[in-house]
Amino acid sequence: MTQSAELFPCALPRTSGAESWRADFPILAQQIHGKPLVYLDSAASAQKPKQVLEAMDRFYRNDYANIHRGVHELSQRATQQYEAARAAVRRFINAGHDHEIIFTRGATEAINLLASSWGRINLNAGDEIVITELEHHANIVPWQMLALERGVKLVPAKITDEGEVTLDAIRACLTSRTKLVAVAHVANALGTVLPVAEIIALAHMQNIPVLIDGCQAVCHMPVDVRALDADFYVFSGHKLYGPSGIGVLYGKAALLAAMPPYQGGGDMIESVSFSGTTFKEPPHRFEAGTPAIAEAIGLAAAIDYVGTIGMNRIAAHEREILAYATEKLRGINRLRIVGTARDKAAVISFVIDGAHPSDIGTLLDQHGIAVRTGHHCAQPVMERLGLSGTVRASFGLYTTKDDIDRFVAALEAVRGMLQA
Ligand code: PMP
Repeated sequence: MTQSAELFPCALPRTSGAESWRADFPILAQQIHGKPLVYLDSAASAQKPKQVLEAMDRFYRNDYANIHRGVHELSQRATQQYEAARAAVRRFINAGHDHEIIFTRGATEAINLLASSWGRINLNAGDEIVITELEHHANIVPWQMLALERGVKLVPAKITDEGEVTLDAIRACLTSRTKLVAVAHVANALGTVLPVAEIIALAHMQNIPVLIDGCQAVCHMPVDVRALDADFYVFSGHKLYGPSGIGVLYGKAALLAAMPPYQGGGDMIESVSFSGTTFKEPPHRFEAGTPAIAEAIGLAAAIDYVGTIGMNRIAAHEREILAYATEKLRGINRLRIVGTARDKAAVISFVIDGAHPSDIGTLLDQHGIAVRTGHHCAQPVMERLGLSGTVRASFGLYTTKDDIDRFVAALEAVRGMLQA
């Protein structure tokens, strides 16, 4: 990982590094419906730089084989690269040990793993799990399923009208029955950055472990799980410019060591016989079957890519884009930004009076603009704000001010059509 890029000044000219970073993403150099593609859907999934595509291609062309247990050269190379990817993830989030990094299919599977494994041995009838009103369904439904099975209660902390989560709101939910606090680091529908360090400190005062859903955070800011003192931290590779089908569950070693397997099968056992089976230590205990090998290697390439630019530099660029876009959107008649927290990541949700979000999205597509519309897999927060959905524009390291200008111009045209 190159740290030197972090030394670059943060005041960026109009054509900042983003123009050259953008050139790393082949998919962006195309026209959609005869217009240059403006990709503003990175919160759903980010595009992939050629460095990631090439790393996966190289692996499949030269080194591919199944990992672990293979004595032949290709299997050993594949194993070495897969385990090196684990070490790259460990460095990226500053975990203490490689065995604290479990590869999963994504954040969704990571949370399901926790609910199924940690939840089964730690939660009983009457216990409570504190979440917030702005969680993604992935951090609601697995706990709800467990709640139904176990008689556990899910307690959502209230958000403010601006979409913020205050420490008081979390404090108000903590009781002697609280066994877990599980909150987003950054809210996918609104972009709110939650005060996770303070939430963790608060929960730890009552010895309550904390899971952070970092899906929308790792791509926008440096994350240090040890500085946060997070007990569990999850994210998906595909929002971090890596491939889909790979994600990460970080867990403190002692917590993981006490957890039973999630799925059974090959690669997670010490020995199997019909009289009984013994399981490996973490991380392998939680990685049954052939994993997403090339995807892990692709994720490591993505981590290397963002590391070369520098997460602080990406954060500074996105802050500038967010401020620029927010100001421009505020100037559009009858447009209302939904989610106005003081601390936000590169996401703007909005509605326009008299226009349905999906109509806006469909018409924007005709201008080459890709945005997401609807509830963003966060129906409870939409309900809390009295909306059925929003239009969401989300930004990445490749988003430029030209993209925002095209977006705003298209939005003006679309608004005129919808309200004519
Ligand atoms: N949590 C958050 C905050 C998300 O934004 C997402 C993806 N939209 C998820 C969890 C689930 O991620 P995945 O679908 O990659 O498992």
